[in-house]
Amino acid sequence: KKIRVGVVFGGRSGEHEVSLASAKAVMENLDPEKYAVVPIGITKAGQWLLGTEPATLLAAEQPNGGIADTFRSVTFTGDPTVKHLIPLEGGSALGEQGALDVIIPVLHGTYGEDGTLQGLLEMANVPYVGCGVLGAAVGMDKEKMKMIFDSAGLPNVNYLVYRRNQWARSPEAILDAIETQLGYPNFVKPVNLGSSVGINKAHNRTELEHAINVAAEYDRKIIIEQGINCREFECAVLGNDEPIVSVVGEIIASNEFYDYNAKYIDNQSQAVIPANIPQQTTEEIRRYAIAAFQALDLSGLSRIDFFLDKDSGKIYINEVNTLPGFTEISMYPKLWAASGIPYSELLERLIELAQERYEDRQ
Ligand code: ATP
Ligand code: MG
Ligand code: MG
Ligand code: MG
Repeated sequence: KKIRVGVVFGGRSGEHEVSLASAKAVMENLDPEKYAVVPIGITKAGQWLLGTEPATLLAAEQPNGGIADTFRSVTFTGDPTVKHLIPLEGGSALGEQGALDVIIPVLHGTYGEDGTLQGLLEMANVPYVGCGVLGAAVGMDKEKMKMIFDSAGLPNVNYLVYRRNQWARSPEAILDAIETQLGYPNFVKPVNLGSSVGINKAHNRTELEHAINVAAEYDRKIIIEQGINCREFECAVLGNDEPIVSVVGEIIASNEFYDYNAKYIDNQSQAVIPANIPQQTTEEIRRYAIAAFQALDLSGLSRIDFFLDKDSGKIYINEVNTLPGFTEISMYPKLWAASGIPYSELLERLIELAQERYEDRQ
């Protein structure tokens, strides 16, 4: 009997389009001999779609950069047996009738990568790929993530966090504090997001003010980080309580920093896998990656991003991504391919880890 895999994609975050591209690759690479795929789409407005409707979602959305076009190669057969996505009257509709054996949340950013969907799936009592509620939530919140990195002794860049209401009340004082404590350039980010959406590099007070206003449109919390003149590295972690770590890759961004355009649109950024760095640096990054995974109580998978300060030679941990981009050319699958685990096998392992974690929690 085939394992019935629900693939959830789209969603309400600024990374909706990226999720569509990741989900398409996941669905195409699940071995059809072993798995029956049930696509579950979520519109930007948050409406859940089933059966043949997810295909409509994908066709209608027309996301940037031609990402939507790639969906034409996925066939949606529809599946009338999945009727309810949330538990009804105490019973688990997802678990009952063997409707779905496992869910792969292929959602990036808020309402998907941040513990919200994970909480729903816990309530529905169905195994799912990736981090649990806590790991997903702290992995998405750059402030709490950095607080945990600090307490685990992981090397963080200096940062400040403000709430939207503080910014509205005393912008001049906040600009002054950032200038004295962090200087320029600095990076301004919404605390909970990804794919560089809402992130700007500020070189002066005018840019800083503008950048904070932009970030505040995406989140009620804004983080400002000291800008590092850096090379960027990424590393992939796979597992639950005994995680393994991939080779290290370097990102050569096509823009001044690795912004949305450099990630998904211009196709000019490059990945060097494995990175051309001394063995000792590789080992340091891999050690930090495992330590971060454990400190944040992550499970399943995570891509962990690092900076190497070109001026001081120091390594900084930047962030974790608990549901990293998952197209065939995304870093997470590529890092594993280079470490001996091809894409389809990676999916199989993630599904096994989901089931293992589910059983551990019973
Ligand atoms: P992802 O798509 O990896 O989830 P994200 O939206 O969570 O990205 P970050 O990884 O925090 O965002 O930052 C995006 C990019 O901005 C980095 O890859 C890097 O190029 C640049 N950047 C961010 N913070 C800094 C910093 N403190 N110093 C130098 N560059 C930075
Ligand atoms: Mg991300
Ligand atoms: Mg991120
Ligand atoms: Mg990143």
